[in-house]
Amino acid sequence: MDRTQKLSEHFTLGELVRSETSERKGIDNTPPEHMVPKLKRLCEELLEPIRIHFGKPFRPNSGYRSPELNREIGSSSNSQHCKAEAVDIEIAGISNYDLAVWIRDNLDFDQLILECYESGIPNSGWVHVSLKEMQEINRKKVMTYSNRSYTDGLTA
Ligand SMILES: [Zn+2]
Repeated sequence: MDRTQKLSEHFTLGELVRSETSERKGIDNTPPEHMVPKLKRLCEELLEPIRIHFGKPFRPNSGYRSPELNREIGSSSNSQHCKAEAVDIEIAGISNYDLAVWIRDNLDFDQLILECYESGIPNSGWVHVSLKEMQEINRKKVMTYSNRSYTDGLTA
């Protein structure tokens, strides 16, 4: 699989499946071929509008996570990352809270989670955002995850 192939104007397949844990542990994180169109949709419907609005390059994380990698991380086996339906985002110089608010107000998504953000520390945590398969309805669920629990809405 050619990781340099572009999925959208600013993002390559390699960037969507990149994982520091897989590199460090030598775990294969190649997605099944049929998931590539889903990764492309994450790029076109989420990452590109974000890239254009904020005008800054950024590296997405875990657009796809293989079952082996997911186990290694200790994440839930029904994580949307394993279905190429979710991506984690941080943009240098942009508060993750502001990023989450912009996504909430401007994009269609399934779940939006502001994760591990600490008030007053703009670059703490990250933003998790997901999309359902084309034929399913996006739930537009917005949550904040901190201190190991989820609360509704975005909390700074
Ligand atoms: Zn995530």
